[in-house]
Amino acid sequence: MSYNKSKKLFNEAQKYIPAGVNSPVRAFRGVGGTPLFIQKGAGPYLWDADGNRYVDFCASWGPLIMGHAPAGLVGKLRKDIVRGTSYGAPTAAEAELALQLSKLFPSIEKCRLVSSGTEAVMSAVRLARGFTGRQKILKIDGGYHGHVDSLLIKAGSGGATFGTPDSAGIPKELAKLTLTIPFNDVQALEAVFKKEGKSIAAFILEPVPANMGVVLPARGYLQKARAITKRYGSLLIFDEVITGCRLSAGGAQQFFSVKPDLTTLGKIIGGGFPLAAFGGSQKIMDYLAPLGPVYQAGTLSGNPVAVSASLWMLSKIKPKSFHAGLNRKAQLFFKKLQGIIDRHQYPVRLNTVGSMFTLFFTPSPVTDYASAKKADTQKYARFFHACLKQGLYTAPSQFEANFVSAAHSGQLLNQSLRKIQKALTYTF
Ligand SMILES: *Cc1c(COP(=O)(O)O)cnc(C)c1O
Repeated sequence: MSYNKSKKLFNEAQKYIPAGVNSPVRAFRGVGGTPLFIQKGAGPYLWDADGNRYVDFCASWGPLIMGHAPAGLVGKLRKDIVRGTSYGAPTAAEAELALQLSKLFPSIEKCRLVSSGTEAVMSAVRLARGFTGRQKILKIDGGYHGHVDSLLIKAGSGGATFGTPDSAGIPKELAKLTLTIPFNDVQALEAVFKKEGKSIAAFILEPVPANMGVVLPARGYLQKARAITKRYGSLLIFDEVITGCRLSAGGAQQFFSVKPDLTTLGKIIGGGFPLAAFGGSQKIMDYLAPLGPVYQAGTLSGNPVAVSASLWMLSKIKPKSFHAGLNRKAQLFFKKLQGIIDRHQYPVRLNTVGSMFTLFFTPSPVTDYASAKKADTQKYARFFHACLKQGLYTAPSQFEANFVSAAHSGQLLNQSLRKIQKALTYTF
């Protein structure tokens, strides 16, 4: 395999773009080597600039639950795009999309469309502060909610990868208003509410943290989060930018039967376009301008092309059979992978839920950020490059989720298993 063209493109890009990339983890700093410059994607595959083909388990970090460039979507967009790409005025399709989202997520009576997960979270946090009249925000150690100032405190994703969970450039006065607790720790949750509960506007968490690698909520933890926020009059925000439409059509809140006050969505609902949303009860959402005092806006919010892609995506994932089939296929793949790990006694931990997974290079259980950080990132880097050489593209960092999509066939997953086994043999 040659990476010459990617190397050349990377050298050129670094002259004009910091680290040559528009989002830090893409630079491969977590695993070393040259980031692959991508030429095209189709179904389960990616091709780099040198013409190498990969089975894609990164899926653009989550959105591509139907694989790359699905024919139905491309055909629909070809027809729609000729009517214009942005109007800055409302369209029927936006209301249709909001209706579809409220059908999938009963906690969402009303929502606003925005252009990125970061923007959805930023808006939800401002709304929570405005609605409650409180200033403090509670988050999880290693939880990632986009690059929102208030939430780049003990943050996962790139923060975990580069060991910079607290970003420079955030005023101390603002950082002081963000409280953090370890995930799955009920005592810490009770203690922080006992001490600060009356000043906490919202507790925001990924119901399944996926930006420190995939970590499962302990039984009853999400229910506890629901009960305690209610008791103290704080809002519960589920950041479902990854889990929304991934674990089930109605996200983690449907999967675990817990109803948050506000939900943020992104990734899958954009159908591969920059579209995200935040929503909740009518009472809270009507606090937004121009009805209420909390300002929020966007030039490209509800962009017609992105909305068209979103409606197509929701129509595909809506039938119950979709997630039943996807999760069954993925869980069979994970079971076989666990079988390989057990047979060879590899010192790794496979965390999975639905069609999401992370292979942690540590023998001990991973239940929170502290246990995730025990993973051997050098071993992961070795494994990552061994996968790449065999044509498997996984997330270029230990602290990220990987995804099985509807485009991965059972046969392709079995072929991939043999390659993963080889990569594990090479790693250890
Ligand atoms: C990706 C992600 C975000 C940020 O979304 P962007 O579209 O990258 O701004 C927020 N929250 C979670 C849980 C995410 O995984």
